[in-house]
This record gives sequence, structure tokens and C-alpha cells, in this order.
Amino acid sequence: MTDPASPQVPEDSDAFQSLIQFLYQTPVGLIDANADGRIRMMNPMAAQLLMPLARDAVLDNLFDVLQEAVPQVRRLAAQPAGVRGVLCEGLRFEGGGPTAVAHPARQRTLALSLFSTDGKRLTAVVHDATQEERRQRRRVDAAAQTDRLTGLANRQALHAYLAARLEQGAWQARPLALLFINSDRFQHINDTVGQSAGDAVLAQLGGRLQALVDAVPPEPLETLPAPLEMAITQKGLVARIGGDEFALVFEPEPGPGTGAAPARALAAEVLRVLDQPYVLDGQALHCPASIGIAYASERSQTAGDLLYHARLAMVAAKRAGGNRAMEFAHALQQQAQHRSATENDLRRAVQAGELFVVYQPVVSLHSGRIEAVEALVRWQHPVRGLVSPVEFIGIAEETGLIVEVGAFVLREACRQFMRWQRQHGARAPGLMAVNLSRAQLPHPALVDDVAAILQETGMRPAQLQLEVTESMAAQDAAVQMRLRDLKRLGLTLALDDFGTGYSSLASLHQLPIDVLKIDRSFVSQLETSRHHRVLVEATVRVAQSLALRTVAEGIETEAQAGLLAAMHCDKGQGYHFARPLRVAEFEAWLPTHS
Ligand code: C2E
Ligand code: MG
Ligand code: MG
Repeated sequence: MTDPASPQVPEDSDAFQSLIQFLYQTPVGLIDANADGRIRMMNPMAAQLLMPLARDAVLDNLFDVLQEAVPQVRRLAAQPAGVRGVLCEGLRFEGGGPTAVAHPARQRTLALSLFSTDGKRLTAVVHDATQEERRQRRRVDAAAQTDRLTGLANRQALHAYLAARLEQGAWQARPLALLFINSDRFQHINDTVGQSAGDAVLAQLGGRLQALVDAVPPEPLETLPAPLEMAITQKGLVARIGGDEFALVFEPEPGPGTGAAPARALAAEVLRVLDQPYVLDGQALHCPASIGIAYASERSQTAGDLLYHARLAMVAAKRAGGNRAMEFAHALQQQAQHRSATENDLRRAVQAGELFVVYQPVVSLHSGRIEAVEALVRWQHPVRGLVSPVEFIGIAEETGLIVEVGAFVLREACRQFMRWQRQHGARAPGLMAVNLSRAQLPHPALVDDVAAILQETGMRPAQLQLEVTESMAAQDAAVQMRLRDLKRLGLTLALDDFGTGYSSLASLHQLPIDVLKIDRSFVSQLETSRHHRVLVEATVRVAQSLALRTVAEGIETEAQAGLLAAMHCDKGQGYHFARPLRVAEFEAWLPTHS
């Protein structure tokens, strides 16, 4: 201590020597000062810690030394004489001094505690809290980079991680793959079992992904940015980046090629693991996923590129039916651009009156006379010309535009039907068939909209038939309920494209339908494949036993029409009778077929 005058301990005793040793060596700064801050004694650690703050290297007065960094200390100490006890405790402040601002390496956090011993003297304790402070800051950063539900890294952490791993073309030496994982049926799970069960599924899903990555044999990896330590294993990063969207960064062993084979193998394993049911409250929930894979490359050099490309591939995997993995290819990006251009054009097309409806006759296979027409939408694009619904219905479904498109077709078809009724009376088609998209069904307003259009056009409900596809009708209870609501209006329902989708002959009786439309793919093989003949014949028989009428689609030859009539299929539709016709064409065709 700098002032050996005061201690009342015998100078020669061992105890005194060891006390001095202790005060000299303790890693905490100790200061004894007067109430006005004048320093009476301090140990070397105190001098070392306070020196960067001292002006002109003068350590006379504690308050002067601390004036810049913690001016409030002077005020805290200015208590009325006689006050004893703690004035402040663990007060943190930047203790690196004026030069530390420009030199982060010199920055340091000090912690100060101040005690008034008898109202006249102060004891200050200072220690270096730099490490504590850093650790704490890291914990806060890590929390900001962690997804609360799954404990995985979040989107922000993924971006930071990718940015660090992709720095300066590092991917050239070390392959990096990003797997973009999106659940196929999560919305359905949320809707049927509720959000908290949905959350539990997501948490389990995240756990499965993490377990997979943990099981990959470790590889050497350089040190990572500090905040990421918590979320990252040695072999890759698993992140939850949105509702039911996860990402997995994978850096397979460097070697010849792109590292595609190990990434594909990992994706296959992810699919297998996620395809296992989730058991919640004894209930097994099935929630498979789709995966898009993108590799760091010339084309995907940034975190943003990689995520965008992997996401495009994921969407393609979903479109291909889901529960599969697809790799990003440049063609996907072009397709995506084409789709988004189509989407923009389609938005305008509805307003601009570029959509119109054509009508394909449905005839009796026994009399050859017209029974009905099917309304089919067409798009006259100002640049691309006539666009097929196959090209734009899917986009309309994904973007929600289908609601507008569907309402347009229905209104137009019903109006046209009534015009023909007025013009041709009994010789006009007696039934109008209109396609309903699966994306229209969830809309609560659908049933009211259909009722309103019937009312507004004066069409009887029995004159309208709505066609739904198999996959849609077979789906779930909510869909079936909506179909029953529609039927209650008094219209009929047809199951379109039968044979291509999910439902089997055995489950037909569960669907609220009146008509079965046998898909063109069966009709086209009638003449060449005995197998298809047997199938169609069985379908017609089962339909008859359930009192369903049958329509064969895509009849192109006399022979097909003859075979179907012999099988007692009721009606037919196809180029053999007529292509989809514009209104004027239909009016020219009608007199010979009614
Ligand atoms: P779909 O409802 O099964 O309609 C029958 C499709 O088969 C029509 O194609 C029709 O032109 C075509 N077709 C009919 N006879 C023959 C034939 O003999 N040979 C061949 N090769 N094809 C034949 P289109 O008009 O291109 O429509 C395709 C699909 O697009 C429709 O299949 C339907 O699912 C959908 N679609 C068409 N218009 C609408 C609409 O207004 N709303 C909705 N939601 N979907 C529509
Ligand atoms: Mg149809
Ligand atoms: Mg069809």
C-alpha cells in the first residue's frame, strides 16, 4: 500500500507481511479515499486499472479520475456526513480511457463498488469485468439468433452463418449445400388439431433435423463467429426460418465434384425421418415435407441467392407432388420468372376482359344428341396469343386469382346457358358443366356466390353441374362438407378426371357426387389395352350400382365411342363429337345435334 502509516498491525509480524502480500497481489483494485475523493492508499491493481482514465497519469483524486467515465460517482459519494454503507455496487463503465474509442482492442469494462466506512472515508473496489460483459453480450446475441419454439438458429442466424461460410468464394474450396425444407401438410395439421399441437409438431420436426445433423460424422471446422456457437454443431447448421420452413446447411467433405451426392443422401434421409408420424396425445399425425437443394456456386454466391434458389427448388418439389427433394437448376429460375410474368399478366387479364369461355358439347352415347356443355376458360393474351388453362389455372390457384377467374367463368357460362335456353328452347343443351378448382373450395363465400349467380341469371340449380377433381373430393371432411353445402343448393356434382387421382372404386360411395367423368387417359387406350377396357367396364358397373351417371372424356374415334356405348357408359365428350367451341361455332354446330 502506498501509505504504510495507518495500519495498526505490528510491522514485523508474519501476519502483517502476508496481509501486505495479499493486498499487493489480489486481482481486485482496492482504494482508500477521503470523502472528497482524495486517495489515501491503493493497491497496484487499482493503479493499473485506473491509469488509462487518469489525466496526465495523475492518480490523486478518485472522483477526478472517474469524472469522464462515471461522473455520477461524485454525486453518489456526496452523502451527508455519517452515512455508512454501500453507495454503489458493481457499477459498470467503459474503462479503456479516451484512446479506446478508436481502438476496440483497448476497450475494457470496469466494475466499481463504493462504500462509505464511517461517513468520512470511502473504500472503492474496482475489477475488470470485460470478460463477464462479453459473455453476457454473447448470451443476449445468441438469444436474438435463436428460434424460441425449436431452440434452433433463426433466419437471422442462418444469414450470418451463410455469409461467414461463403466469404470470398470459400465455396470453391469447400462445397456447401443448403437444404430448404418445408412441410407439405402443416396447414392441415394446424387446422385440424389446433395451433399448440401444430407447435409441438414443429418442435419435434426441428429436433429430428438436429438429431440427423448431429449424427453426421464430425469434420474439422474453423472457428465460427462467437454468437453462433450455441446454435451450430460441428457439421452444419439447422435453422427454423419461418412458420414451417427449415433450412439445413451442409458442408460435406471436400472432394472431387460438387458434393451433390452426400447432400442428396442427406436429403433422402431427411425425407425418411420426417415421413415418420408424429405422436401427440396418442394420435399419430403424418406430416411429410418437400426439400429444395441449392449448392454454393458461381450462380449462388450469397446467402440471399442460395436461399432463393433452394426455395425455388422446394416449390418445384411440392408441385411435383411433395414428399420429395429437388435440386435447383437454372431452368427452375426461368420457369419461376415465366410464372411470375404470367401471374402479373393474369391479374390484369381478368379486368381487361382477356378471358373468355368456350363450350364443349357432351352428347348421349346412345342417341348422339346433345345433353350438356362444359364451359372451359381461355385467355387471349395480347402478346402470347391463346393461352391454355393448363398453363394458367395452376398459377391462378396459387395466387388466389382463381376466385375471380372462377366467378367470371361461372357467371359467363350461366348467362350463356340462359341465352341459349331463350334462343333454342328445348333444343338447347339442358345442362351447363363448370369446373371448380380445389383452391375455390375453402372460400367461405363460395356457396353464397354460386347461389347469387344462379339467382341473378335466373338459371335453375338443377341445370348446373360443378366438376371437381378426384384429389379434391377425396381430401378431408371440411372439403366434403363444403361439397354437401353446394349440393344442397340443388345442383349436381361431377367427379372429374376419374382414375388419375386418389379415390378408388371402393371409396366412391363416400363422395357426395352424381356423375363420374372417366379420364381421357383410359378412353384413349380402350382400343389397344384389354386392361383399360376391363377397368372402364368395371368403373361403369360400379357407378351404375351407386346410381351415378357416367361421362367418358376425350373420345377421339368412332371405335372408342362404340366401345363405350356397348359398356353402357351414358355420355361422351371429345374431339370426335366436337372440340371446345366459341359461341358462334357452337351455334353452327348445334342444329345438327339436337
Ligand atoms: P377438364 O375439366 O377435364 O376438361 C377437359 C379437357 O380435355 C379440356 O382441356 C378439353 O379441351 C380437353 N379435351 C376434350 N376432348 C378432348 C379430346 O378428344 N382429346 C384431347 N386431347 N383433349 C380433349 P382444356 O380446355 O385445355 O382444359 C384443361 C383443364 O383445365 C380442364 O380439364 C380443367 O381441369 C381445367 N379448366 C379449364 N377451364 C377451367 C375453368 O374455367 N375453371 C377451372 N377451375 N378449371 C378449368
Ligand atoms: Mg372438367
Ligand atoms: Mg376432365
